[in-house]
Amino acid sequence: MHIRRDDTVEVITGEDRGVRARVLRVNRGKGQAIVEGVNRVYKHLRRSRRNPQGGRLEIEAPVNLSNLKLVCSKCDKGVRVGVRTDDDGTKYRVCRSCGADLGKM
Ligand SMILES: [Zn+2]
Repeated sequence: MHIRRDDTVEVITGEDRGVRARVLRVNRGKGQAIVEGVNRVYKHLRRSRRNPQGGRLEIEAPVNLSNLKLVCSKCDKGVRVGVRTDDDGTKYRVCRSCGADLGKM
C-alpha cells in the first residue's frame, strides 16, 4: 500500500482525471481512498423527523487506489512509487523517476 492519509495524489482516470488533491481517508481492506473534492456524488436523503424536507448531500465517494498516483514534489507530477528498506528495516517510499524520498511507508 503506497498511499496514506494526507498524501497529495493525482487522479489518473475518470471525470476527475488530472486533479490533485489530499487524501482524507484510506480503506486498506477495500483498496480505496476518499480524496478531497474528488468523485463527488449526491447522496439523497429520505425525509425523516430530523430532516423533514429530505434533500441531498454532496459527499466524496471512494476512489480505487489503482486510480491514484502519489505526487512527487520534486518531479511535480504523479509518479510510480518504489520501496527502499533501511538497514534497520524501516521502509521508505521513493519516487521511481527521480529517487526522491517520499516519506515512510
Ligand atoms: Zn520524483
